[in-house]
Amino acid sequence: MVLIFADQADGQIKKSTFEALSYGSKLAAQLGTTAEAVVLGAVDNASLEALGNYGVSKVHHDANAAFNQFDAQVYTKAIAAFATQAGAKVIVFSSNTSGKAVAPRLSANLKAGLVSGAIALPDTSNGFVVKKNVFSAKAYANVQLLTDVKIIALSPNAFGIHATGGTAAVAAVSLPADGGKIKVTAVEKVTGTVPLGEAELVVSGGRGLKGPENWGLVEDLAKAMGASTACSRPVADAHWRPHHEHVGQTGGAIAPNLYVAIGISGAIQHLAGVNRSKTIVVINKDPEAPFFKAADYGIVGDAFEVVPKLTEAVKKL
Ligand code: FAD
Repeated sequence: MVLIFADQADGQIKKSTFEALSYGSKLAAQLGTTAEAVVLGAVDNASLEALGNYGVSKVHHDANAAFNQFDAQVYTKAIAAFATQAGAKVIVFSSNTSGKAVAPRLSANLKAGLVSGAIALPDTSNGFVVKKNVFSAKAYANVQLLTDVKIIALSPNAFGIHATGGTAAVAAVSLPADGGKIKVTAVEKVTGTVPLGEAELVVSGGRGLKGPENWGLVEDLAKAMGASTACSRPVADAHWRPHHEHVGQTGGAIAPNLYVAIGISGAIQHLAGVNRSKTIVVINKDPEAPFFKAADYGIVGDAFEVVPKLTEAVKKL
């Protein structure tokens, strides 16, 4: 069996999970086995059944409220117990925040080989070889998994979501819900926008915007588009924007459908966090800005002139 960890937040299955499910079910077909999912925490039955749309035949659900709040240690113990009892041979995660926290722990727990940042289905013609990103996605490595149980953490947007139609059978399971060494006592949510890791649309600003007083430009465009906002590292370092908005090698890695970069030069450390975006639009007054090489669309111009016009145009759509 290929087991896919279907991740929820606030009772909603995360978008990145749909891609992991698509990948896991294609992999199961390749291996001639079944694809099944495990979900921890409260999620309504209709949402669980709907996971069948991404190729899984069965969803194992532990609705214990102890799982509602993500805890990497508790989740690892529960998934390890389920994977062992179900005899899962391959366990698939999305390389999102929770996947990155659980997959390595599970690898240690099950003594299973792990490939993180996988970007393609394994080549099983001679062993089990998975292609992955290395050096901030500047190169690829082919990694052979030698253990009986194998773990793959899929790089977001690398495989795509493939809807197949159909519904999954839902089975209630009861898994260990202890083992946590920390307790989350309160969660303070950033309101207003979708968390960056899950955002489909992101508008991001860099030092070219000169100062925090000009961020209305970014926010107005983001609001018109229904996008989340991000920024380059110097912007967060200068406290123009909160640190959770900083994307790049040392910040968040995101993979939206659309990334609009305003007044950002496109240093490799920035690109490392955003180069998995499906479409990149760059607005920069310097035609030699390196970001244009990574852009699908580019506007050479002064952000203070271009962005308000773009915002007005988007509002009319
Ligand atoms: P700048 O490089 O100053 O670029 C500003 C851009 O705005 C220029 O291209 C300019 O032409 C343009 N501009 C100026 N005025 C206008 C205008 N009116 N209209 C339109 N365009 C205009 N950076 C990150 O972002 N994320 C990271 O995670 C990260 N990690 C790093 C890790 C390490 C170890 C190191 C060494 C660096 C890291 N950096 C990171 C920093 C990175 O190298 C760059 O310095 C940084 O990304 C530059 O930010 P910027 O593009 O906003 O600013």
